[in-house]
Amino acid sequence: MRTLDPKIFFSAEESAKISNAIEQAEKRSSGEIRVHLQKKSKGDAFEAAKRIFEKIGMTKTAERNGVLFFISLQDKQFVLLGDKGIDEKVPANFWQSVKDLVLEKFKEEKYVEALVAGIEECGKKLADHFPYQKNDQDELSNEVTYS
Ligand code: CA
Ligand code: CA
Repeated sequence: MRTLDPKIFFSAEESAKISNAIEQAEKRSSGEIRVHLQKKSKGDAFEAAKRIFEKIGMTKTAERNGVLFFISLQDKQFVLLGDKGIDEKVPANFWQSVKDLVLEKFKEEKYVEALVAGIEECGKKLADHFPYQKNDQDELSNEVTYS
């Protein structure tokens, strides 16, 4: 079984794989994707994810097109949050469909594979609605964050 310490939940190699998937997705879109691991949510995981979203600057992208993959380890919660720019454009069932895809692989403990697949799906949608701009900036780091 994996440790539930967010700092070492993923090996360096696994973290690099995740960051790389984010980097690839962001090469096609102005959107910003992040992955955050939290040890435990105080109260509702969705509310905890919203607080992190704000705290790590995800509401500050120019086009409000940040997408957060939030995992709360001890309480085994996964939340997928898209900022309002992207949320307005995707079909109503989009987030749930990505969430289902990720959770299916989580059940098999394929955490990296799950996130990479989810990131790719979100990357495609972001590319459709927020195509990459020549002067694109990496507004938010692609590294996995922790709390
Ligand atoms: Ca960007
Ligand atoms: Ca980024």
